[in-house]
Amino acid sequence: MGPGLCDNCHAKPKHVEGTHVHQYCGKKCAASAQAHKHQAGGHGGHGGHNGHNNTHHVNSATICLMCRKAPKHGPSHFCSNKCAAQAESKAICLLEVPQGHDTFKSVEHQFKDTWRMPGRTPPSVKYVYKIVEPASRTAKYNHYRATVEARGQFTKHKLTAGNECRRWHGTRRECQLGEPGNTTFCASTTCALCSIIKSSFNLAMSRGGRFGNGIYTSSTSSKSDGYASNAHASPVKAILLNKVVVGKCHKNPGLSPTLNAAPAGYDSVVAPGSQVAADELIVYDNDAVRPSFLVVYQP
Ligand SMILES: [Zn+2]
Ligand SMILES: [Zn+2]
Ligand SMILES: [Zn+2]
Repeated sequence: MGPGLCDNCHAKPKHVEGTHVHQYCGKKCAASAQAHKHQAGGHGGHGGHNGHNNTHHVNSATICLMCRKAPKHGPSHFCSNKCAAQAESKAICLLEVPQGHDTFKSVEHQFKDTWRMPGRTPPSVKYVYKIVEPASRTAKYNHYRATVEARGQFTKHKLTAGNECRRWHGTRRECQLGEPGNTTFCASTTCALCSIIKSSFNLAMSRGGRFGNGIYTSSTSSKSDGYASNAHASPVKAILLNKVVVGKCHKNPGLSPTLNAAPAGYDSVVAPGSQVAADELIVYDNDAVRPSFLVVYQP
């Protein structure tokens, strides 16, 4: 077996000196990895060591969710293709995001920022888990997003591809999923939380609603909190933060409980809310949405 690929460029083999295998292919990659870590707020100043002992100085705010040793690579949750593949091989699985991690902070920030309930402070976020799905499932979502992007050209207007947004969904939990040490899905077919994470959202399971037979999410965490329930008493509640391809959205189509698709020329429907009845976003395609994070909080 060779020394493996450089932790920075993932292209050239790691530099080998006698019996010592360096983390990087050379000084250039070692320095660039250090600079990257420095930018991300990590410990710097070890560039001259050519990567020695780097793992002891990794900034936990950007640590890889799989090996928890090396810094993650850019927007990926993982440090390397190897760790990404390892996580995927266990899919569908939950990987705990440590408190203090940038990803934890980002999810927590969105939760608190979108909690709109007069007179009630946001609950504290206790645990965040990244939901890792099989590559085949990601591919279908990415394909749908690319189709919507090709039609709507959202990136030209400085939006994300497909106008992708993160939206909340609250549902019924029959088990203790997400509580300390519990990342195993239960076997109950009526545990909606486990079902959604295991199989993603399914229109066939939709019970309909004010805007038809679609998949309902909200930008407001307190709205989704209202739908989150525990079948058994628990000190915590759990909701999902999802990736949704919003595309071109029809705002306020009026009550339309018979809709089975977005109105012609649109990809989704948004029902704006007042303070009491918060906004809802509805998509009508299974591949327009994926559960991305499980968020456990103390009400
Ligand atoms: Zn390299
Ligand atoms: Zn890793
Ligand atoms: Zn369950």
